[in-house]
Amino acid sequence: MQYLPIHFDTRGAKILVVGGGPAAEAKLRTLLKTEANIVVVDTEVGPEIARWAEQGRLDWQNRDYKETDLDGAALVYAATEDDVVNAVIAKTATSRQIPVNAADQKDACKFITPALVDRAPVLVSIGTEGTSPALARALKADLETRLPPETGAFALKTKTLRDKVKLLLPSLSDRQRFWARILGGRDLSAQLRVSPEALEAQVEAELKEQDQSAGKVLLVGAGPGNPDYLTTAARRALHAADVIVYDRLVSDSVLELGRREAEYVYVGKTPGEPSIGQPAINDILVEKALAGFSVVRLKSGDPLIFGRADEEIEALQAHDIPVQIIPGITSAAAAAAAINASLTTRGTNKAISLLTGHDAKGFAEQDWVSLARPEGRAAVYMGVGAARFIQGRLMLHGADADRPVTVVENASRENQIIIYTTLRNLSDDIANAGISGPAILLIGYAERLSSSKERLAV
Ligand code: SAH
Repeated sequence: MQYLPIHFDTRGAKILVVGGGPAAEAKLRTLLKTEANIVVVDTEVGPEIARWAEQGRLDWQNRDYKETDLDGAALVYAATEDDVVNAVIAKTATSRQIPVNAADQKDACKFITPALVDRAPVLVSIGTEGTSPALARALKADLETRLPPETGAFALKTKTLRDKVKLLLPSLSDRQRFWARILGGRDLSAQLRVSPEALEAQVEAELKEQDQSAGKVLLVGAGPGNPDYLTTAARRALHAADVIVYDRLVSDSVLELGRREAEYVYVGKTPGEPSIGQPAINDILVEKALAGFSVVRLKSGDPLIFGRADEEIEALQAHDIPVQIIPGITSAAAAAAAINASLTTRGTNKAISLLTGHDAKGFAEQDWVSLARPEGRAAVYMGVGAARFIQGRLMLHGADADRPVTVVENASRENQIIIYTTLRNLSDDIANAGISGPAILLIGYAERLSSSKERLAV
């Protein structure tokens, strides 16, 4: 991030605009919304600028620019129609440490003005650091449709309600959670449209319901990594959480949905490395919930599949801490989706096993006899290290060495990799592919041949 987005207080500040042509006029349209004292210097200005000067909305100095115009300026726009002049003004302003914007000369600019969606006092500014003005315009158009005109009025109403909420909820985190509940609902633009009276009624009802003292834990499925695969309930929970306790495989793009002010606790376990034990994780959950926090325990995929959820639930229940579970898309489902394979097929397999490659004792033993049968189908979690063992066990129990196996690494993520192989070649192909991320082995599943060879990007 080369540019830091900040909102600059313009009250009483002098903003100098050098130039009276179209470039200056475009800047002035935004500047006139501020509370700055705007000074425009040029011997000629367009009719709009002249009108604004007449209305007393800006001070037009009808003469050539001179260096003393910079005196006392908080910001400068070098917006004449002459690039050379703009560059000179920019250089002088910069040498005097006055932030300057030079029209169409990004390198000479000390600041740039972003595209703006204006629902004052709510402002959304959009910047692409000059990479794509077209994208900025498209984003602006999109947000213009999504933020209803009532957004500003909504914000003003919450300002008056905040005092009431503050009185009843003195703790900052309680208040943040409260507002997250009011705003984190199903449909934000519908919520922004509610009348001030309806909002007040909502706030009062929510305040009544608020049980300040009780912490709770939500066991939330983060899905396989792609935030599109996250449930709405999970998004809402993340938005309202005070504490987010998360695993190694939870992707950054999912974590970013939490509030900035929330406390983030990493409790990832890296295979083969010393890491935090389950009892210590349980203790963290209990401690944070007893302190009254709303805790989200974020686990990759679905929290109830190879997630040691029962151990956490029992620890919490032992302290009478309420637990709620929000399911997620498990990685086997994402892996099957990635290859267009149906996990169950009428007439072929009536069951699929979800297996772990490892258990507490090492490579996990399974019911190899039934898995080795032609209709045996399995999705193996944590199976990369155990691939040779699984292959050996299945073949030992009579499985066909040509049985298809598909390995999906980083299912649903941008770096997803798929390997189509067979039981015979499984461990060699895994080694050759250099798989290092989380992967699912789909045993008995092949690529579904489609008329088009192109694979859809997730
Ligand atoms: N609760 C999780 C599983 C946790 S065990 C779920 O329901 O998916 C960790 C294992 O999950 C990894 O070793 C890997 O086998 C699998 N896994 C997690 N994310 C994955 C992803 N994006 N792609 C493929 N496998 C994944």
